[in-house]
Amino acid sequence: MRRVISRPLVVSLLASVLALSVYAQDGDRIDWPRYQDMAVDLMQQYLRVNTSNPPGNEIEAARFLKKIFDQHGIENEIFEYKPGRANIIARIKGNGSKRPIILLSHMDVVTAEPASWEVDPFSGVIKNDYIYGRGALDMKNEGLLHLMTMILLKHEGPALSRDVIFLGTADEEVNDEGSLWMIANKADLFKNAEYLLTEGGDNLLDGGSVKIVGVDVAEKAPFWLRLTATGLPGHGSRPVADSATNRLIRAMNRILDWETPIKLLPAVEQFFKDVAPLQREPLRTQFAKIRESLKAPVFAKSLTSQREYNFLLRNTISITMLSGSKQTNVIPNAATCNLDVRLLPGESPEDFLTALKTVVADPSIKIDNVNRFKPPNSSRIDTELFTLIARKTKENHPGAIVTTKMLSGYTESQLYRQLGIVAYGWAPIYTTPEEDEGVHGNNERISVRNVRQGTREFYEVVKEISR
Ligand SMILES: [Zn+2]
Repeated sequence: MRRVISRPLVVSLLASVLALSVYAQDGDRIDWPRYQDMAVDLMQQYLRVNTSNPPGNEIEAARFLKKIFDQHGIENEIFEYKPGRANIIARIKGNGSKRPIILLSHMDVVTAEPASWEVDPFSGVIKNDYIYGRGALDMKNEGLLHLMTMILLKHEGPALSRDVIFLGTADEEVNDEGSLWMIANKADLFKNAEYLLTEGGDNLLDGGSVKIVGVDVAEKAPFWLRLTATGLPGHGSRPVADSATNRLIRAMNRILDWETPIKLLPAVEQFFKDVAPLQREPLRTQFAKIRESLKAPVFAKSLTSQREYNFLLRNTISITMLSGSKQTNVIPNAATCNLDVRLLPGESPEDFLTALKTVVADPSIKIDNVNRFKPPNSSRIDTELFTLIARKTKENHPGAIVTTKMLSGYTESQLYRQLGIVAYGWAPIYTTPEEDEGVHGNNERISVRNVRQGTREFYEVVKEISR
């Protein structure tokens, strides 16, 4: 059957062809293959800079980046806050009618065990269309996209309404010294920013297509605790019923049996609704009305028995370090265990501690906080940037679902949100769960395709928000 094209359709076809050609002109001005080749080459070079932390030695990465910024005439400055440890900031100026956007990446990487890798972790070698190296996913890849965006804005970008600030920091993997130093000493350079983009986005590539793009808008907060039980010491041949070890074990059992209350935060509720269409029934309907569904104890129990969902819905506790006697035949006078507690945004550590003490039910067991607690926070999603990320993602990957993510882990967004900046974890890097195993693991790698496409997709979002 022949189809007769009616006039309004012709008009709308014509309009979309015109729109397409305008878009194409804008995009085609840029010699993408040249910049994408450059991105792959710079990715390899960046991965060869060994910034394993400890000791970090991020000054080498800062110098590497400085050289490139200098070559391209981009204003930049290194801050070596102690020997070998450095941050770098670079800036492309806008007319100031909008507040800046910060592209934040940490330059340090976790250590690598070369014997467990297929290639030298600092070789930046390309094998089977993957670029290998410690930091290829966490997070020199995103640093590279930020760097390429600066280069592209400098040579190809439109007039900007806001400053675009590149910020490379030291020590994220250990103590956040780099960002803490910048915020304490150089905040004037960036504290008026409206937005910040950094790591934390959690995207899913499955069967060759992008299924989920997760923008990290909140993270849980580590609240690490140590329990210390003390008691009568003695010889192992003559047991002490309420010894330090025995009392500690009983307390740990009560902790293991404790089900912390389920709480559904708005960002998490949104996530379940967004991913509902990907589920089969009855899960699809249950996710779509998750707040209602969680009221059914059977459903709540089965959902929280899955690790990937449990942490989204409650404060969690993992018993990690244990210590008692150094000898089999000695009953120690003290025994300890450490708990890796992660609190939901908005939770009070004092309230949690009070509840935990009730569960432990043994006033002689001392409970101490052993980390620097940073109150969890979150960013709102009714922003121009969030809308833009969602729109661009759908243009580039029509089947993808864009959703909010709350991370179980911590990112530096927490620090910058305290300055009033809207901070998101997002990057157009699409990985399979198998590739994700390289993060802090062995054979960390990024596909060449990700680097090439990511360069364009990231640039387009930053360019658009900064027009
Ligand atoms: Zn990281």
